[in-house]
Amino acid sequence: MWYAKMYFSEKKEVFQFDSHGVQGVPSTYEEFPFLESLLSFLEADCKELEPLLRRAYENWSLLIDRDDKEAGVRTLMDLGDLGSRHIYLHLLYVRWFERFGRMGITQDRGSREDQEMLEELQSLPKQLPLYQQQVQRFFDLVLDVDKAGRDPQQQASANYLYDAPKDPSLFSFRPIPLSFEPVEPGRCSPVLYPLHISDMIDYSLRSCVERGITVRRCKNCGRWFPQTGRVSAEYCERPVASGQQTCREAGAFQQWTKKQSDDPVFKAYRKEYKKRFAWIKAGRITDEQFYAWSEQAREMKKKCDREVITLDEFKDWLGKP
Ligand SMILES: [Zn+2]
Repeated sequence: MWYAKMYFSEKKEVFQFDSHGVQGVPSTYEEFPFLESLLSFLEADCKELEPLLRRAYENWSLLIDRDDKEAGVRTLMDLGDLGSRHIYLHLLYVRWFERFGRMGITQDRGSREDQEMLEELQSLPKQLPLYQQQVQRFFDLVLDVDKAGRDPQQQASANYLYDAPKDPSLFSFRPIPLSFEPVEPGRCSPVLYPLHISDMIDYSLRSCVERGITVRRCKNCGRWFPQTGRVSAEYCERPVASGQQTCREAGAFQQWTKKQSDDPVFKAYRKEYKKRFAWIKAGRITDEQFYAWSEQAREMKKKCDREVITLDEFKDWLGKP
């Protein structure tokens, strides 16, 4: 029996998919930082996915209606392509792959299950952008730390009546297939066995509320990021191409540079440092003298930073030959 699993472990999320159902040996295993799958789904270009989804539906119809096995294979190829574009879409591939194989054995082509799968495939081009809008709305009303505040539990309770959203454009929660099992040596966790893409979205959103995790738009790249650490974090740590800095690393450096250039203690120190450095070239002092001075100057700067001496005292010291 095929399976798809999704679970959260500390600050990461894990996906395992297998069309043959070999527990422990999944054909697909992916790890992301917490919430990355949902955030990248939110950024996905549904217009780009639409032609593939439509074609998969048309080919699957040919298989169901006319027993066109070639068309069935073409569906799987398109679903495989979609699965490589986003991890949520890989669910379609394993599910349809398994059904294709089983159909050959059980000879029940056109069953109720097939009708439901066909309808699901047909609805996806409209459904995916709708999910995106509902998630966006959920961010606005519940998770966005700058708009909705720091308490997602409070906001979620205010926006739902039982499991129905008060605002019809907000995401609707449904029962999801959740199990519980060891996921790492010595550690058990709830594990989602998703049947539909909405199950994975649902589980991600409710997990944010349960864990009190808010989201914010990054000050550098403008994309959403989850605040798994400090709630004051302004820069994301979302994955970047290898060798590049994350926004948080770049942001920390910019802030440091800005702080340094605004700091009068650092300014006074740098001015004198430059002046004396130039003296080496002019032959007025030796290298050794310069290094000895700069060592002392750093000590004095530390004292000034800690307010052991005042800025004026530090400047006086710097001005001495
Ligand atoms: Zn960023």
